[in-house]
Amino acid sequence: MERSAGLALPVAVTAVPRRPVSVRGLLFLLAAAIVSGCDDGVQGPTPGRPAFDGSLALDLVRTQVAFGPRVPGTDGHAAQLAWMLARLDSLAPVVTADTFTHVTTASADTLTLVNVRARFQPEATRRILLLAHWDTRPTSDQSTDPERAALPVPGANDGGSGTAVLLALAELLASAPPPLGVDLLFVDGEDYGPGVEDMLLGARRYADTLEEDDRPIYGVLLDMVGDADPLFPVEGISSQFASPVVRKVWRAAERLGHARYFPSSVGQDLTDDHVPLIQAGIPTANVIDFSYGPANAFWHTPDDVPSNVSAETLGMVGEVVTELIYSGG
Ligand SMILES: [Zn+2]
Repeated sequence: MERSAGLALPVAVTAVPRRPVSVRGLLFLLAAAIVSGCDDGVQGPTPGRPAFDGSLALDLVRTQVAFGPRVPGTDGHAAQLAWMLARLDSLAPVVTADTFTHVTTASADTLTLVNVRARFQPEATRRILLLAHWDTRPTSDQSTDPERAALPVPGANDGGSGTAVLLALAELLASAPPPLGVDLLFVDGEDYGPGVEDMLLGARRYADTLEEDDRPIYGVLLDMVGDADPLFPVEGISSQFASPVVRKVWRAAERLGHARYFPSSVGQDLTDDHVPLIQAGIPTANVIDFSYGPANAFWHTPDDVPSNVSAETLGMVGEVVTELIYSGG
């Protein structure tokens, strides 16, 4: 994920001719807006909602980091893929692994990448999508020390946290059937880089190959959701292009008493996996705390380690998406 250069991205969103946010996209937004208006009367948390386990999520972060960096082409990447597939196969009725390649703009390297999707209530036509990237950054390019900058990012928070929340959520979805279809999507190649042309690769692939019958009504992206000092202002592009989804997620947080950590203020525009989905007409909100450590000092550095990730924060975010799902989406 990268900071967006101000207005450049919103212009690109409206200018992409391949799949414009056209009448179809606007209808989705309108439908989502109408639906979101219906939950205004919901005051408290949804009764019977299963309990999300933040300490399990932290264990899942530790397991991922122990594989080593999950950079495409490395042993850690392969080990994590096998582990995710084994876990999900035991929990979800339908699990798919979509393998594809990307030739990098920066170095003409061919990357082999895999998106993993686990589908719950696969027959349901009304579906939502929750996604996170499972790969990690090859270099710590935000480190000020050149020796440390050459190291891969451990990815406890950036890659590990969203993946852990979705894997822990899969356990709940397996034990307590959700009231609508839920697709968990683990996208690869989000953070390869260094430039944006070699990033967001799995999300682009998903958006480019999505079958109409499989189309979710909206998406929620989890990225960097484990900081010990959490704050989730509304990400700027989500605010502009997925405000009905933002409203649903932030209201779920409010119902659980987490409004302090999910303020309605709008933060930075961030180029992240939600952008290709928005461009494909799937309104998608990015839940991201882009202030990781003091002055974001742990982001894209070797300090992105499990000791800087909090079970409480993972638990809060997991609880919010659980509430979103079991309140009806
Ligand atoms: Zn990153």
